[in-house]
Amino acid sequence: MKTLDVSVVTPDGPVLEDQFDMVSCKAENGELGVLPGHIPMVAPLSISSVRLKQDDNDSVSLAVNGGFLEVRPDKVTILAQSAEKPAEIDVQRAEEAKKRAERRLQSQQDNVDFQRAELALKRAMNRLDVAR
Ligand code: ATP
Repeated sequence: MKTLDVSVVTPDGPVLEDQFDMVSCKAENGELGVLPGHIPMVAPLSISSVRLKQDDNDSVSLAVNGGFLEVRPDKVTILAQSAEKPAEIDVQRAEEAKKRAERRLQSQQDNVDFQRAELALKRAMNRLDVAR
């Protein structure tokens, strides 16, 4: 069976490079499932998990923070601002980031950048989701 050559890269360096049967992710305009032979495309990714499926039962999830998915017929490249495997996620750090963001969103101060706090909250919740 044909597979996809998947590589995940962040500004800190490569995160993962392996063969998979399917890539599922959340692009900004919806869920996307990529199988070998998919038409070439580029899509912006949301703060979400990317699921990499190997065989029928084995799969790896990554918490990705934005970036792009590039699909070629037998190759998928994910270029993200950050990408972590479940074991790499520091749960306590993510819980603290979540609390910090929630405090900022609840505060009435006008020096708070709400959009920034919302994004931080999304990143933290996504990490907690993938770590579980
Ligand atoms: P924090 O406020 O805790 O720094 P953040 O969402 O602002 O979280 P990012 O800017 O998304 O952090 O990431 C900066 C770097 O830290 C990236 O390399 C990312 O992989 C890493 N990182 C952030 N949070 C965690 C975490 N909970 N566990 C492991 N690595 C993390």
